[in-house]
Amino acid sequence: MPGAALARLAGAASAPDHRDLGVQQELFTTSIYSPGSPIFLPNGARIFNRLVDFLRKQYVRYGFQEVITPTIYKKSLWAKSGHLDNYADDMFTVMSASLATGEQRVDKSDKAEKDEAAHDHEYGLKPMNCPGHCLIFASQRHSYRDLPIRYADFSPLHRDEISGALSGLTRVRRFHQDDGHIFCRPSQVEDEIRSTLDFVRFTYSVLGLGPYRLVLSTRPTDGHLIGSDADWDAAEDALRRALDHSGQAWTVNPGDGAFYGPKIDIILQDSDGKEHQTATVQLDFQLPRRFELSYQAPSPELERQGALVEGAEPSKEEAGPVTPVMIHRAVLGSVERLMALLIEHYNGKWPFWLNPRQVVVLTVNDSDAVVEFAKEVQGTLSGASADPLQSGGASSGSLLAAVDLDTSPRTLPLKVREAKSKGYGAIVVIGPKDVAKGTVAVDLSGIPSKEKADAEAEAPKDGKKSKTKAVEMKPDALLQLLQDKVNTYQ
Ligand SMILES: [Zn+2]
Repeated sequence: MPGAALARLAGAASAPDHRDLGVQQELFTTSIYSPGSPIFLPNGARIFNRLVDFLRKQYVRYGFQEVITPTIYKKSLWAKSGHLDNYADDMFTVMSASLATGEQRVDKSDKAEKDEAAHDHEYGLKPMNCPGHCLIFASQRHSYRDLPIRYADFSPLHRDEISGALSGLTRVRRFHQDDGHIFCRPSQVEDEIRSTLDFVRFTYSVLGLGPYRLVLSTRPTDGHLIGSDADWDAAEDALRRALDHSGQAWTVNPGDGAFYGPKIDIILQDSDGKEHQTATVQLDFQLPRRFELSYQAPSPELERQGALVEGAEPSKEEAGPVTPVMIHRAVLGSVERLMALLIEHYNGKWPFWLNPRQVVVLTVNDSDAVVEFAKEVQGTLSGASADPLQSGGASSGSLLAAVDLDTSPRTLPLKVREAKSKGYGAIVVIGPKDVAKGTVAVDLSGIPSKEKADAEAEAPKDGKKSKTKAVEMKPDALLQLLQDKVNTYQ
């Protein structure tokens, strides 16, 4: 670890800094060759992937379908979405190589046509997924019965932040959002926003984050906006009603809305009382219009007013096209930024399911029999030795991704001390007796639990740590116990 980072860590009074902890726990690094684009090391990638896995499971419950979309789109798309007029300064441009050889590739004699063809080889690196999801919606015909349609996307996004502001996982040029877009009927807006606020509440309680407050941001006052006053009035009213219904306190941040619509921001308070904007719900009446999105409804006029509801008498009026309402929403927000918060929040004491160092298997010596059995146990716990074609058994559950092995000939106390300092959740020790019995000795004291935190708070502070007892178990039983913790997000 660099000296400066060590010095910052040594200051017990100073708040934990995710950049220092990221070095200490080997989570991520950066490179001068791509400023502002964090490079996740294996440990960091484990946390990232577990957060994504968690969300994928919730998507089934909340009715989202994941899509996979392009990273670059032609400038003409960004012109259509309004980003070129309102967001160009924050976007990276990507040039096709054909631009350089345009003379050969573009068979145009007229200069204007040639320029236009050349311009068509200019791409923008996406800063948002919204236009791409509009293209998906537009690619199929929809009836009012199909709505709401909810797309989710974990694509990397790029925004051209100035290099002086870049830092850690919070000030970045490349990041991922747990992005989602809901296309719904005007009558469904409030339900969708309520459901999103519920999703946020559930997720933050699982992650142990909070408290947070809700803020409604209204139309921008700097002139950078699209849409009429009537659209903005309707959008802001819908969000107000959903906020009222949430039962949570909320405030207004006048003029802070996005250029395409008003939004609700979730402002999370960290353990030091510092506030961070994480989740967001944004209503958008504009983008669906720009992309000429529509669905068929039996009474278009009533439908537009949100007056045509489920079970209503079918009207004699002709069916016709109606523009859907689009809701942009992210529960974590930037996954990178949320990881920075989690890294500081847990400060090395990860819950088992998120811990990048879940299990380490230590040997008491380096004899062949002990090392061989230790490898076998590692295979059982990680699921690496399970036959994927065999159904049933403990191995068919969620596998532990982080099972390390230390068979070095160093002394056991040294290996245990190192494992504890690295923050392993479970420390598994294997000696000759274990080989004979087919068991392992497990110390689970690295797995934080509510009961243990309470007990520690009550224990007299004599500077000594209570001696942890190792439990003797069969490897299969240990796997089951650890899988239960992963499956219930402990
Ligand atoms: Zn969006």
